[in-house]
Parts: sequence; structure tokens; C-alpha cells
Amino acid sequence: MRLSLKIALTIAVAIAVVGTAATGVRLSEEERAHREQFARAHLESMQLLALAVAPAVAGLRHDEVQGVLDNVSNFPESFPDARTLEIIGEDGRVLASLDPTRFNEAAAEAAPALAALRPTSRFSQDRLDVVVPIEVTARLGVARATFDVGRLERTIARQQRSAAVLVIGTMLVLGGVLDLLHRRMVGRRLRELSRAAKELGRGRMSARATVAGKDELAGLATSFNAMAGELESYTQDLEEAVSLRTEELNLANERLLELATTDALTGLDNRRSFDEHARRALEVSRRNERPLSVVLVDTDRFKSVNDRFGHAAGDAILKDVAALLERAARKSDLVARIGGEEFAVLMPETPEDAACEAAERMRAMLARADHESVPELSGKVTASFGVASRTPATRRIEDLLAAADRALYRSKSDGRNRVTLESSSKEAAP
Ligand code: GH3
Ligand code: MG
Ligand code: MG
Repeated sequence: MRLSLKIALTIAVAIAVVGTAATGVRLSEEERAHREQFARAHLESMQLLALAVAPAVAGLRHDEVQGVLDNVSNFPESFPDARTLEIIGEDGRVLASLDPTRFNEAAAEAAPALAALRPTSRFSQDRLDVVVPIEVTARLGVARATFDVGRLERTIARQQRSAAVLVIGTMLVLGGVLDLLHRRMVGRRLRELSRAAKELGRGRMSARATVAGKDELAGLATSFNAMAGELESYTQDLEEAVSLRTEELNLANERLLELATTDALTGLDNRRSFDEHARRALEVSRRNERPLSVVLVDTDRFKSVNDRFGHAAGDAILKDVAALLERAARKSDLVARIGGEEFAVLMPETPEDAACEAAERMRAMLARADHESVPELSGKVTASFGVASRTPATRRIEDLLAAADRALYRSKSDGRNRVTLESSSKEAAP
């Protein structure tokens, strides 16, 4: 159930309880007043009647007394509620009655009435009994009547009904008005606050509640907005920190990858990177039945370079060799440093003849090359080359490298500074 409806109902019920109690008290007071007024009016009428019949009763003029009563029954508005009405003489006999058959009847039950010294009225269950003494100089008898209280009861019931309608009506109207007021003043604003909280919960950090007025709810909305602001800036800081960290991490990863795949001295790919590329290239070439060649390069008598010119000079020469191989290779080739003074060139889409030609071109370029850092070695640094190409029998990259290594070994043993092809055992001339 809506909060506004609950509050409105609670207040309305409370008002109904208080209203009913207050109305109850008022109704019982009014009921008493009605009864008193009813009894007084009838008592006064009976006193007037007693005065009217007194001379006729004193003269024992029965017909005259009956005439007065008949007049009464002819004009019921004078005694609208009369059920019985009779004049009883001192002897206890009925002198006159609305029911003329009772004339001269001994009214045995009249004894208590005759004892009445003053006019009396008394309510019992559904009637009002009134007894009034008839006197001129002496007591002559009594006028006795019973009145129907139905009219009185109906008036009281009508009043009770309108009081109940008033209480229920007031409760409904008040409940409705309170519900409306609460919805306008509280319900709508609480819903607005709850909407903002939901949006914030869904991750829309810019969500804010509308602040209206200066009451407690406005205070709550202001506090909520302050909290949302804190949360937003905290989230922003966190996101910035995370993205900064991620960027740093990406850079570090890139750097790590570079370190893991690059040779620090020459900047060429290292052994690990070469092996990986070579493995993939072999798979592709097998699947597509395309040629693939590998050239292994070993710098000749490099130990003596170090021995004569020092390790730093040796490094400089290795850099020269690397740069030269890179220059001589095609873009699609991969040049790597796979050992101290050993290099390898992976040549996809290259059959053995073309690979031999490329290797020969590299060999010749190196043999002629100038070396700025060690001018004495210009035109004197050479290398031996071993070439191998994939055959249908080549399953693993290690087999292809072993074949190229065998060819390289032969280039060395055949006098160095030459190119040897493994598969065809063909040797390219220096
Ligand atoms: P061969 O013609 O039979 O290949 O003779 P070689 O002297 O080149 O062969 P060997 O395997 O005996 O020697 C290789 C030398 O290469 C030994 C080592 O000092 C040198 N070397 C290996 N890595 C580096 C390096 O990073 N820098 C320098 N300056 N020298 C290196
Ligand atoms: Mg070597
Ligand atoms: Mg060598």
C-alpha cells in the first residue's frame, strides 16, 4: 500500500475514533434533552387538560368531561402520541377515556396514580406515563395518559444516522485531502528521490535529485546529491587511476614483449621470435603448398676479430652484419640474430633457387662492405651461408633448420665465405 494512503488512512481512522466518541457523548446529551423536552411537553399538555376538565369533574358532569376528551381525539395534533388518556375520579372509577367503553369502569390499577400528589411523568420501555392531579379547591381525581415514544425514538435514530453519516463523510473527505496533500508534499518528492537513487544504482553517476523547498525532505535530497557528487568524483578518480595503470601496464607489456622478442645489440628479432615465426611460416607453407626457405649465416673466424680489435669492435661488426642482412633481405623476409655471431633469414614464398640467389647477394655485399668503426676490416668480414628449402617430407621446423645447418657446416668446411644449398647439395660459387 502507498505510504501516503497508509498515513491518510491512519489519521482518518484516528479522527473517526475521536469523532465517534465525541459525537457519542453529544448524541447521548441530545437524547436526554429530547426525552426531557418530550416529557415536559406532554406533562404541560396534561396539566392544561386537567385544568380544562376540573370544573366538569367537580360538578360530576361526565358528559362534559368525555366531551373534552372527544375533542382531544378529534384533534390528535394536541396529543399526537397519546395511546391511552383517561380521567379517573377519587373513587377510582373512569370518568372519561379516549376509549369510551371504559366509562365508569373501576380502574383497579389506578391506585398508584391516585396517590400522585404532583404531576409526574415516567418513561418505561416503549411509552411515557403521565399522571396529573385534578384539583379545584380539593382533590377531585387524576388525568392519566400513556404516550407512544415511537416519534421520539425516530427523531433520536434520525439524529444518530446523520451523526454517523457526518463522521464517515468527514473521515472520507479528510482521508482524501490528507492523501492528496501527502502525495503532493511527500509522496512525489520521495518518488523523485528514489528515482535518482535507482539511476545512481544503475551506474549513471551524474544522477541527482531535485531539491524543492527547505524542509527535511529538501535536506535529505541535498545530502543525497552531496553523496552522489562524492561518489561520482571518487568513481572518476578511480577510473582515471585504472586507465593510467592500464596504460602503464600496456606499455610495460609492450616493452616486455619487445625485450622477449628483440635482440638488444642489433635490434633484430631474437632466437625465440625467429623460432615462433618460422614454425608458423612452415605451417602456412605446408597448408598452401607454397615454397619456404631458411638461410643460416655464421660470421667467419669472428673470434679473431674480437681477439685483434676487442669485444666492442666485434659488437660493432655484428651490428654492421645485421644491418646489411636486413638491407639485403626482402620486406617479407625475417632476419634474426639466433646466436653470438650467427644469423638466420626466414624466406616465405621463396624456392631454393631464389633463396640461394638472395644468400649469394648477401654474402657478396658483406664481403665488400666497409666498416666505419673498424676500417681495417672493410672488405674483410665474410660469412658462410647454409640454405635449405621445405620439401614435402619436412614436417617440423627443426628439420628445416637442421638441413640449413648441415649446409652451413659444409660451407665452413669447404673454405668459408660461400653459400651451400642442402636439399640439392648444390653449392653456389663465391
Ligand atoms: P668460424 O669461422 O668457424 O665460425 O670461426 P669463429 O671464430 O667465428 O667461430 P667460433 O664459434 O669459434 O667463435 C665465435 C666467436 O664469436 C666467439 C665469441 O667471442 C664471438 N662472439 C659471440 N657472440 C659475440 C658478441 O655478442 N659480441 C662479440 N664481440 N663477439 C661475440
Ligand atoms: Mg658460430
Ligand atoms: Mg663463426
